[in-house]
Amino acid sequence: MDIIQKYMTKNRCYTSPVTITVKKLVLHSLGVAQPNSDIIFNKMNTNNATVSVHGFIEADRIIQVLPWNYKGWHVGTGKKGSYNNFAIGIELCEPKGHTYNGGTMVNYDVSANKAYFTKVYNNAIQLFAMLCMEWELNPLKDIVCHCEVYTLGYGSNHADVMQWLPKHKKSMDTFRTDVRNKMNNITVIKKSSSAKETELIQKQLI
Ligand SMILES: [Zn+2]
Repeated sequence: MDIIQKYMTKNRCYTSPVTITVKKLVLHSLGVAQPNSDIIFNKMNTNNATVSVHGFIEADRIIQVLPWNYKGWHVGTGKKGSYNNFAIGIELCEPKGHTYNGGTMVNYDVSANKAYFTKVYNNAIQLFAMLCMEWELNPLKDIVCHCEVYTLGYGSNHADVMQWLPKHKKSMDTFRTDVRNKMNNITVIKKSSSAKETELIQKQLI
């Protein structure tokens, strides 16, 4: 899937950029039932917004909204500091239909949302594999979610994404492993010499 670039040109993270060296990738989810990232984009794309992210993942779109090496305001600050200083933040858009009680999803229909979840999860694997290769990161060590960053002491106390992934029998460990496997597959394809070989490998992957 192609990545759509649509920068938040009014957000202060874009208009007064602070460049960062990317060392970590943070997976978030919106914490609200909103599959359309345009709604969130419009809220963030103002000159007084106090939050920003680098990208959104929808069921059928991957959208980059800040240059990867611009500092975003996505994970807050913890007792040891902030991952914002060296991490890309990506939001998974959540499907319609549920509400929240604190950090817990209420009335989330697992079976009805299975297909949606599979799409955003797989899109996230694709994007994170690409970002790990671009920034030479180790997917098993350098990918974390917001609640993990909080536990590490470098972010605010949010539940994402572990309020959601386990409902579909996924975790950050399965995600990290899936990204690593995707990277291995991409590397195999890149190294192969002929178009015929590539075709063969792609068939094997499917
Ligand atoms: Zn978050």
